[in-house]
Amino acid sequence: YSIDLSGRVAFVTGASSGLGAQFARTLACAGAAVVLAARRVDQLKDLRARIEGDGGDAHVLPLDVTDLTSIRAAVAHAETEVGSIDILVNNAGVSSTQRLADVTEEDFDYVFDTNVKGAFFTAQEVARRMLARARGAAPGTFTGGRIINISSTAGLRTLPQIGPYAMSKAAVIHMTKAMAQEWGRYEINVNAICPGYIDTEINHLHWDTEQGRKLVQMLPRKRVGKPEDLDALIVLLASSESHFINGAVIQADDGFA
Ligand code: NDP
Repeated sequence: YSIDLSGRVAFVTGASSGLGAQFARTLACAGAAVVLAARRVDQLKDLRARIEGDGGDAHVLPLDVTDLTSIRAAVAHAETEVGSIDILVNNAGVSSTQRLADVTEEDFDYVFDTNVKGAFFTAQEVARRMLARARGAAPGTFTGGRIINISSTAGLRTLPQIGPYAMSKAAVIHMTKAMAQEWGRYEINVNAICPGYIDTEINHLHWDTEQGRKLVQMLPRKRVGKPEDLDALIVLLASSESHFINGAVIQADDGFA
């Protein structure tokens, strides 16, 4: 059983590092043309070179998801230059660690502007175009859209000192369910992945601290995940094989949460 995404266009936000970079590589490997979007364009260009070196099709676009003008420009550009977006991986995200009593308005907005508002308006911009195609297409001819929102196990179960981050990721879960209800009938499936601990830039320094080492010992396999651990899941959710999976919140955490 193999999944082929040839002819599909995937738009990946936060593709400049970590999970987003790996999602993009994996989708390209499965045959999709991938649009790599984030603020650090140099890193996107390096990734494009790697994907092209492996025989894939990749395009670079600057994107700041906290800026609606930037979202609209990037999505419009992708559709003109690459093709209609079939798959959105809504992955861009930031974290912050403070005790709740110390959180400032600036800290709160930093996390919510990216993780919630940015993710919502990116999905809305892509979905509007998918909906227009779905409504305009002759019955049975729209091949469907896929939106994959990257939440976190923190959206299901919070821990001390990550309050605003956990709150933002819980919002992503509800956002996913709301979108799935409104858009599912148009063959636009919206699902959320809740990764557990994955070693990326967002938490890299943590694993070498005493607290980090203790945490690793509590994990079922006593190892932090790698971005590649989510390869099969992202390809499945991006594909037409996942037509009956809509509004799902999938934990990919090795059983920790
Ligand atoms: P990274 O820090 O490596 O990646 C975060 C990505 O988000 C970067 O590519 C960054 O790109 C992008 N980004 C941040 N702000 C913006 C913005 N304003 N506009 C556009 N892109 C932005 O961390 P991860 O790969 O780990 O994180 C990816 C997602 O996975 C996040 O949503 C995170 O919350 C989630 N997650 C991660 C877990 C983990 O353990 N690693 C666990 C659970 C969820 P740039 O700076 O170039 O703009």
